[in-house]
Amino acid sequence: MESSAGADPEPGALDLPLDAHLHTDLSHDADVPIDVYAAEARRRGVREIAITDHLDFDPRDPNHALGDHRNRERIVREAAARWDGSPEIRFGVEITYERRLEGQIRDYLGTHAYDYVIGSVHLSDRQPLGRPGADTWARAEGFRGASAWYWEEVEGLVRSGLFHTLGHLDVIRRWLHPILGAMDPAEHADLYERVLRSLVDTGVALEINSSGLRHAHGEMYPPPGVVRRFSELGGERIVAGSDAHRAHHFAFGLPQAYAAIEAVRITRLTFGDSERPTAVLA
Ligand SMILES: [Zn+2]
Ligand SMILES: [Zn+2]
Repeated sequence: MESSAGADPEPGALDLPLDAHLHTDLSHDADVPIDVYAAEARRRGVREIAITDHLDFDPRDPNHALGDHRNRERIVREAAARWDGSPEIRFGVEITYERRLEGQIRDYLGTHAYDYVIGSVHLSDRQPLGRPGADTWARAEGFRGASAWYWEEVEGLVRSGLFHTLGHLDVIRRWLHPILGAMDPAEHADLYERVLRSLVDTGVALEINSSGLRHAHGEMYPPPGVVRRFSELGGERIVAGSDAHRAHHFAFGLPQAYAAIEAVRITRLTFGDSERPTAVLA
């Protein structure tokens, strides 16, 4: 096919090393063929991309049946060969983590290899925030009460040792924003502090996920102030992704994610088991 015969990066291209979080039409909530991302990456000057389609372990969740590892890997590796390093295309996954499913996830990852594994906490109807009446419940609880389950699951995720990267830390803000309005992370610094210390302790990487810039509250997951605190605590393992689900999401906000990394003088991205120079300070 002709897809690898694309043009050189356009004038004013981004010149970024990596978008480490992308969903293709193998995720239930995305519709983008892999070649569309590859073409966008080449045109816009992103040198490497990770395909990180969803994988869910609860049979009630929408990406449970989409977990045909062999098929996924074939699609990604064939695309990588077609595009021949421009961009590099890596085979990743975004696994929905719940503590009660940890044994299943561990068994699975013991027998199914990926270049890159993101662990993320997502909303489901197993949490009170995903059930009917959630608005009333959350208003009564306030941010701390209504988000307590989220922080506990994130702590379990980081401590599990199963994942290269923690995906979109503080995405709970997306779900609570329509009910409780804006939240200032500084008011809940202790909640963040615990997770950030766990990341530093374990070496799990912090993802700067720019998708929040296209959500109602308009801030990255997590915002730059949290990245600063991570760095103050000694955190160095960091990576950036746009979490695109549509073609026009590709690299959206990614320069801001890199700017947040640059601002704390971290010069290396931690991508799976390897590292990359950041664009700006390398
Ligand atoms: Zn996610
Ligand atoms: Zn995602």
